Amino acid sequence: MFPPALRTASPHLLLLGGGHAHVEVLRRFALAPEPNWRLTLIARESEAPYSGMLPGLLAGHYTRAECHVDLGALCRRGGVRLIRAAASGLDANAQAVHCADRPPLAYDLLSIDVGSTPAATAIAGAAEHGLPVKPVDGFLERLAAFESVAGDHAGKRHVVVIGGGAGGVELCLALHHRLVRRSSAGGYQFTLISDGATILPNHAAGVRRRLLAALTEAGIRLRLGQAARAVSFAHLTLTDGTSLPCDLAILATGAAAPAWLASSGLALDGQGFLRIDNSLRSVSHPQVFAAGDCAAFDALPLPKSGVYAVRQGPVLAENLRRAGQGVPLRDYRPQRRTLALIATGPRHAIASYGPLALSGAWVWRWKDRIDRRWMAMYRGAEAMGSAPGAMSEMRCGGCAAKLPGGLLGRVMARLPRQQGEGIVLALEAPDDAAAFAVPAGKLLVQSVDQFRSFIDDPYLFGRIAANHCLSDLYAMGATPHSAQALVTLPFAGEAAMEADLEQLLSGALATLAEADCPLIGGHSAEGTELAFGLTVNGLAEAGAVRRKGGLQVGDALLLSKPLGTGVIFAADMRGQAPPEAVAAALASMQQSSRAAGLELSRAGCLALTDVTGFGLAGHLMELLRASPGLRAVLRPQALPLLPGAAALLAAGFASTASPGNEALAAPGLRAKARAEPALAILFDPQTAGGLLAGIPQAAAAHCLAALHRAGYAGAAVIGRVADGPGEPIALE
Ligand SMILES: Cc1cc2nc3c(=O)[nH]c(=O)nc-3n(C[C@H](O)[C@H](O)[C@H](O)COP(=O)(O)OP(=O)(O)OC[C@H]3O[C@@H](n4cnc5c(N)ncnc54)[C@H](O)[C@@H]3O)c2cc1C
Repeated sequence: MFPPALRTASPHLLLLGGGHAHVEVLRRFALAPEPNWRLTLIARESEAPYSGMLPGLLAGHYTRAECHVDLGALCRRGGVRLIRAAASGLDANAQAVHCADRPPLAYDLLSIDVGSTPAATAIAGAAEHGLPVKPVDGFLERLAAFESVAGDHAGKRHVVVIGGGAGGVELCLALHHRLVRRSSAGGYQFTLISDGATILPNHAAGVRRRLLAALTEAGIRLRLGQAARAVSFAHLTLTDGTSLPCDLAILATGAAAPAWLASSGLALDGQGFLRIDNSLRSVSHPQVFAAGDCAAFDALPLPKSGVYAVRQGPVLAENLRRAGQGVPLRDYRPQRRTLALIATGPRHAIASYGPLALSGAWVWRWKDRIDRRWMAMYRGAEAMGSAPGAMSEMRCGGCAAKLPGGLLGRVMARLPRQQGEGIVLALEAPDDAAAFAVPAGKLLVQSVDQFRSFIDDPYLFGRIAANHCLSDLYAMGATPHSAQALVTLPFAGEAAMEADLEQLLSGALATLAEADCPLIGGHSAEGTELAFGLTVNGLAEAGAVRRKGGLQVGDALLLSKPLGTGVIFAADMRGQAPPEAVAAALASMQQSSRAAGLELSRAGCLALTDVTGFGLAGHLMELLRASPGLRAVLRPQALPLLPGAAALLAAGFASTASPGNEALAAPGLRAKARAEPALAILFDPQTAGGLLAGIPQAAAAHCLAALHRAGYAGAAVIGRVADGPGEPIALE
């Protein structure tokens, strides 16, 4: 019998980790949604690498996109909320997952597929000097950094791969193929280390023979029967005391369990992996399921291999459903023998199946077909159905739309205390309104902004929305003092609304805390969709308030952040934005404009505004209107763009606000933008966009360098201020 928590009418299923089994769970729930269930995926990265194609990616046969599943697109199809975060802890008794900086996420049903990392605690110096193959994204990033400097090196570079299992050998051959082909100058020496007497001890002799031949042919040195004992900046020491030159030590050692599972309260095996029964359910907590590398069967130990994680996906999906419905679970029966197709670097592979070993280019083509077919299952968004329909129940409006009593109070009680200078009445002693004293000689600078959520993570949305609202104060040269919140929460059960509100306000408060800006009040209501805004109060010396007017002929026009958030999220809504574009846009939207405002002030800027919903052209027009008789001459090639924005504009994506922004432009500019799709960026609405300023020409280079140093890598001089006849905005 299941515990009562699972009999809730609208269970919250939390999927932790975007591993191979979970992508199948996501696909199956998209194809056949469970009405009234809430699904959330917590994933460290927004793309899940497919392990079968990883060696091909390293060898240069595949692009990154060809072997990564876009978790954002998959979630959108299934109406699953995606939280891009790393779990740092789990309290199985309290049924909550912890991620850094945000409130715990509660669940009714939890499924864990977080994989493993290479075990390297026995190798001294591995944490500082070793490069673990997992997490894959970190591995690829650090490998690219190594490659970028290794190419310039005059002498030989020494790459040592530690691990003689299928993963280590395959990776060694793939990397050798990649680096040796690309290398000039001194080239590379590869060494493969294994503590066993042979490589791939669990495979047939014919497989080992073929792989040894491939290693020899590639000139890769083998050190068998020796474990790595220590690794340093330039050397690696073996257990027999031998020291090898080593510029890159890759850890492809056996799997280790995530350390944070140790304090979860879940039953673990001797190595820290989650103990599960044949139905993939935790042996200690019936609300918890697990699959893939992070799980260990009580009945039979399985090798840590993606093949098993993949095969567990369908059973896991079905058992999660059954657990929610309270019906008996199915058993997962692992295949007795698995087919391993091991790539050898070039487009050539070895098939290993029990005692059988086959090899050739045809095996590679066979493997390639299987792998591409697997990846194709997680594309083709439209074919996979969409999110369940909206609630049809009629809800009252007006004041009856207020959040259920007590909910707000409970959430506020869990959030950090809000206090600040001069505050007389605020949340600590709530009244009909908040009150604070404005210091003598200062001006109260106030702005309000609110918008609908464009991402499904309320914490991140709260962070970004607060940053967006604060940027008005930075544009005015004011210091944030306090804020009041406007919250609209979508209808849901009280527990779900409480969880969402806590995430949302935690995100907003995290941003406000960075700005020393306490929350002193607000209003919350139910609505059809999540929306959030703030009234922000700032203080400024009367003479120091910066306005939109004050441009001078010859001023350089400077923009502090790249453009493109509108088009990227327009494409993302249709599942068409590359994950790296979404990630870059999210990072940019969370970057505060506080330091930019200070640098622009130091540079003597008179005219300043922030670029938001009206797009660059719209907000530039506001500056020009405040300085009558002046025009702007923009350099289109100097406009900084977020990665992926140009390609999405070229593909015809646009925010729904873009046409309205374009309609406000002068006819000449509109005509040019129609002829040249890239110019549509001028009308792209920005969320938490950059500051746009007119800077004296003589100070521009210095100010730009200061902005780059302050972390605004995309800041650019985008044009100049001119006078004379012509449209207000001209292009060079
Ligand atoms: C070089 C190499 C080649 C390999 N080739 C093959 C092969 O050809 N065939 C094969 O079957 N196996 C192969 N393997 C083994 C295979 O990679 C693993 O067995 C497989 O990835 C396990 O799948 P999984 O679903 O358990 O976890 P993973 O695929 O590791 O997925 C776990 C996911 O969870 C996320 N995650 C982890 N921690 C957290 C956290 N705290 N919070 C949120 N998210 C988190 C990770 O970012 C990741 O996306 C290879 C391994 C290596 C190193």
